[in-house]
Amino acid sequence: MQVLKIDHLGIAVDSIDQGKNFWTDVLGLEFAGDETVDEQKVTTAFFPVGESEVELLESTAPDGPVAKFIEKKGQGFQHVAFRVPNIDEALAELKAKNIRLIDEQPRIGAGGARIAFLHPKATGGILVELCERS
Ligand code: ZN
Repeated sequence: MQVLKIDHLGIAVDSIDQGKNFWTDVLGLEFAGDETVDEQKVTTAFFPVGESEVELLESTAPDGPVAKFIEKKGQGFQHVAFRVPNIDEALAELKAKNIRLIDEQPRIGAGGARIAFLHPKATGGILVELCERS
């Protein structure tokens, strides 16, 4: 399998408005905008860092995956996303290796990327996202 780079780090926060100050005022990162992905009940805010990004995640509903994550583990690091050149090939390869997936098929994430999550039980406890951007 080919991984091109770390696309972004996903960080779960109660509030993007409150959470973004550290990233902008302290670290000096640029706030590059936000986007709500209704299907995942989340608003994401992007802070480019070199060729990667920090992505803050704020739930838009109490039963969304990010709200559930914060309920269980508190705010903080939630997932790492690896950029792949071809997500269909990557998923086929993982299935052939019997790697447990959350998403058997890619779905559309923020920025129109095609994304899929691997199950943390298959990755040593980390939520891993694959991400293909055209
Ligand atoms: Zn992500």
